[in-house]
Amino acid sequence: MPVTVKTCATPAEAAAALSSDRGARYIAGGTLVMRALNEGDVGITTLVRLADRALAQIRISGARVSLGAEVTLLAILRERELSYLHPVVRSIGGPAVRTTGTVGGNLFAASPFGDLTAALLALDAMVSVQSGYGARDMTLEEFLAGRERAAGTLALGVSFERPASPDAFRYRKIARVKPKGASVVSIAAHVPNMGGRVSNVRIAYGGMAATAIRAKAAERALEGRALDEAGVAAAVAAAAEGTSPATDAIASAWYRREVVGVHLRRLLLGLEA
Ligand SMILES: Cc1cc2nc3c(=O)[nH]c(=O)nc-3n(C[C@H](O)[C@H](O)[C@H](O)COP(=O)(O)OP(=O)(O)OC[C@H]3O[C@@H](n4cnc5c(N)ncnc54)[C@H](O)[C@@H]3O)c2cc1C
Repeated sequence: MPVTVKTCATPAEAAAALSSDRGARYIAGGTLVMRALNEGDVGITTLVRLADRALAQIRISGARVSLGAEVTLLAILRERELSYLHPVVRSIGGPAVRTTGTVGGNLFAASPFGDLTAALLALDAMVSVQSGYGARDMTLEEFLAGRERAAGTLALGVSFERPASPDAFRYRKIARVKPKGASVVSIAAHVPNMGGRVSNVRIAYGGMAATAIRAKAAERALEGRALDEAGVAAAVAAAAEGTSPATDAIASAWYRREVVGVHLRRLLLGLEA
C-alpha cells in the first residue's frame, strides 16, 4: 500500500491535513510511526510532517521552560539547565531512540511508553495544541484525558516551571530489561520541601493506566507531611488508588498494583531502587 508524505509549512496547514484525512498520521522522530508502518499498519495512508524548525526549540526564561514538540530526547540531554530531566530521558530507549524520538511523540506514546510524559505531568506542564479550530493551551492532564479523541490535533509544545530545587523533583523507572526496557511503572514526584514538610505535591505514574496519570490519593496523603517513614506511610498505602494498569508482556496489572507503593516509598525516602 503506497504511503503519501505531505510536508506542511505551518502548524495550521499540518492540523488541517491531519483532520481532513482519517489515514493521516503526524510523523516526528518516527520511532513509533515507522515501526507501525513497517509492521504493516494499513490504516496509515499519509504521513504529515512539518518543515518548521520553531517546534524544535528549547526556551528557558527564568524558571519557565518551553519545549517544542519536535525537541528530541537527545536535545534535552544536551541542555544542562534541564539536568533534572536527564534521568528521565536516559531511561527511555537506547541512543538511537533518543536521537530521533521527540517530546511530541512521547505525549502520544501508548502505555507502557510515555515516561517523559509522566515526568511532565508531575511538573504540571501545559500543552499547546493546534487543531482545525486554531491554537490553544491546556493542562497536560486535560490533554491526556482527551488524547484518544485528539485525531487531527497537532501538539506544538509543552511548558512548565522548573523545580524549585534539585531535590524537589524525583524520578524512578522500574523496568525488567535494563537499561532500555519498557516500564513496569515509572514514577515522577514533585515534592518541594518547606521547613521540613512537603507542599504542592504532585505524583505521576507511567504504566499505571492507558496514559500517564496523577496519583491524586497519594498526593493528598503526602501533602504537608515530612519525607520520613511516618510521613510517607499514608501515601504509600494509597499508591495504587485510582490506577488501572494493563496486563501486558512486561507485567500483569496485579503486579503493577503490588509494586507501585514499594517503589513510591523508596523514591520518597531517597532509597536505592
Ligand atoms: C526500541 C524502542 C524503545 C522505546 N523505549 C521507550 C521508553 O523506554 N520509554 C518511552 O517513553 N518510550 C519509548 N519508546 C517509544 C518512543 O520512542 C518514544 O516515546 C518517543 O518519544 C516517541 O517520539 P517520536 O518522535 O519518535 O514519535 P513518532 O513515532 O514520530 O510518533 C508517535 C505518535 O505520536 C504522534 N505525534 C508525534 N508528534 C506529534 C505532534 N507534534 N502532534 C501530534 N501527534 C504527534 C504520531 O502521529 C504518532 O501517533 C521506545 C521506542 C522504541 C522503538
